[in-house]
Amino acid sequence: MKRTLTRLLAVLAFTAAALPASAEEVVVYSARNEQLIKPLFDAYTRDTGVRIKFITDKEGPLMARLKAEGRNTLGDMLLTVDAGNLWEASEEGLLRPITSKVLEANVPAHLRDPDHEWFGLSVRARTIVYNTGRVKPAELSTYEDLASPKWKGRLCLRTSKKVYNQSLVAMMITEYGEGKTEDMVRGWVGNLATSPFPDDTSAMEAVAAGQCDVTLVNTYYFGRLMRKKPGLRLAIFWPNQNLNNKASGVHVNVSGAGVTRHARNPAGAQKLIEWLSSGKAQNLFADVNLEYPVNPKVAPDKTVAAWGSYRQNLINVKEAGRLQAKAVKLMDRAGYK
Ligand code: FE
Repeated sequence: MKRTLTRLLAVLAFTAAALPASAEEVVVYSARNEQLIKPLFDAYTRDTGVRIKFITDKEGPLMARLKAEGRNTLGDMLLTVDAGNLWEASEEGLLRPITSKVLEANVPAHLRDPDHEWFGLSVRARTIVYNTGRVKPAELSTYEDLASPKWKGRLCLRTSKKVYNQSLVAMMITEYGEGKTEDMVRGWVGNLATSPFPDDTSAMEAVAAGQCDVTLVNTYYFGRLMRKKPGLRLAIFWPNQNLNNKASGVHVNVSGAGVTRHARNPAGAQKLIEWLSSGKAQNLFADVNLEYPVNPKVAPDKTVAAWGSYRQNLINVKEAGRLQAKAVKLMDRAGYK
């Protein structure tokens, strides 16, 4: 009897130890700002009872931390912006491939890793913004056209040091090849009204002030600026929409997530990513930062929808990472600071 009890207790103790604390908890390393993430995670906890712990930092330190912690990491999931960063995390061996019918259904193929290590969760479009007093939309057409002499002294750009521009140029290398892309970037540099700006917002403010006429930005910055200063004479233009050219379209990037290589609770992390890709969560995730839902079945926020619809470039966003080093060198050669 005593022996049976001892054995039973041993089994119970074993079960308790084997039951991962992780069954009810997912730990997220997040490079997205806390205000954006907290309401989402709270909603997930309400829906599922699963607690989420998260730490917030820039993607660089988070990836360095995952690398240093190796097998001992507590991080189950990495959440960050830009496919360039997600690609790098994958290259560094920080993520693991997952099989998910839900994610394959909810996330279009060009917005996720072909090796299933990361998945886009929101879409950011990098497009043209112009001064409505100085430019007619009919004058605008493509990214390439901004290199033509008619835009001499009329273009403003954000610095090439930002990953957004590195990703944009990397994807253009995939689309046009290095030679044509370099010619285009040289053309842009030759058309600059002034030296590059530290961020998208200051480039748009220069356009609004008439210092230049056009720039390239992520649309959520446009949305934020227009909320703050609705009187600005700025509008969005969707380039490369010629339907005869199937390879073309607006350049998009993603924010997204993957399950870490050494996750203690990979199943929990996967369920959370799946949840983030569906229904209500997509709106919570995308709308708060005026981004586009990655899931085509979910409609964008009203403010965002008012900018009109456009066709996306369908090149896989992983190219942003794969060709990033090439893009940086190309921009350097072309004199893009
Ligand atoms: Fe941003």
